[in-house]
Amino acid sequence: MFSLSGKKALVVGVANDQSIAYGCASALRAQGADLAITYLNDRAEKYVRPLAEKLDAEIIEPLDVSMPEQEAALFDVIRDTWGTLDILVHSIAFCPKEDLHGRVIDCSAEGFKLAMDISVHSYLRLIRLAEPMMAQGGTCLTVSFYGSEEVVEDYNVMGPVKAALESVTRYVAAELGDKMISVNALSPGPLATRAASGIAHFDEMLADAAKRAPTHQLASIEDIGAYAAFLASEEARNVTGAIVKIDGGYSIMG
Ligand code: NAD
Repeated sequence: MFSLSGKKALVVGVANDQSIAYGCASALRAQGADLAITYLNDRAEKYVRPLAEKLDAEIIEPLDVSMPEQEAALFDVIRDTWGTLDILVHSIAFCPKEDLHGRVIDCSAEGFKLAMDISVHSYLRLIRLAEPMMAQGGTCLTVSFYGSEEVVEDYNVMGPVKAALESVTRYVAAELGDKMISVNALSPGPLATRAASGIAHFDEMLADAAKRAPTHQLASIEDIGAYAAFLASEEARNVTGAIVKIDGGYSIMG
C-alpha cells in the first residue's frame, strides 16, 4: 500500500468521531501522515481535542473560517512547526437553518452569502494560505454532494453551493497544476453526521440511498478516508480536478 509517511496534513472539519473529517484524519494517520487538526470553538474543543490526541496530532488549533485572523494564526503555527504542508482537507459547510429549510428561490441574500463563504470561499482561502507551503507539490481535498448536479429533495440551497464548490475545485486544479498541487473533491452519498442532521427528512434520504444504491450500502467515514488517503499519495499525483463519488453507485441510478 502507498505510504504517507513524513507528509504533513491539515484537516479542518472534525466535530466528533462521526465527522467525515475524522474519517479522513484517521486514514491519513494510519498511512503515516503527521496531523494538524482544528476545532471550531471552545465548545467544540472538548470533543475534538481527545480525538486529535488519539491520532497523535502535532498541532491542535482553533479555526472558525469566518475569522480571518484565526486562519492566519493557524498557518503561522503550521509554518513555525513544520515549515511545509503536503495535504489540506477542507470538510466544512454551513447554511442558516431558515435558508436551508426553505425553497432555493426564497433564500435570503445574507444566508446565501454566508453559506457560500463558509462552504466555498473558505476552501479558496485555505488553499491560498497552503500554496506557498506546498513548494514540493501537495493535495487539497474538499467534500461535496451530488445534490450539486441533480435536484435532491430537501437539499435546497446547498445544491447550488456544492455546485460552486465543485466548479472552484476544477478552476483551482487548473491554476495549480503546474505546481503539482492537486485539487479534488470527495463526493460521498448521504451518511449520518451532525451537519447532515440539519437537513429536513434526512432519515428518508438515508433510507432512499441505501435502497437505490447498487451496493445497498451507505458510504462510511472509513470509505471516504481511504479514498482521501489515496488521493493524498504520490501514486495519485496525476489525479486533479476530480469529483470522486463514494456512494455505492447511488448517483448513477435514475
Ligand atoms: P460534521 O458536522 O461532522 O462536519 C461539519 C464541520 O463543519 C464541523 O466540524 C463544523 O465545526 C464545521 N464548520 C461549520 N462552520 C464552520 C466555520 N465557520 N469554521 C470552521 N468550521 C466550521 O458533518 P459532515 O457531514 O462530516 O460534514 C463535512 C462535509 O461533508 C460538509 O462539507 C458536508 O456538506 C459534506 N457532506 C456531507 C454528507 C453527509 O451526508 N453527511 C454528504 C456529502 C457531503
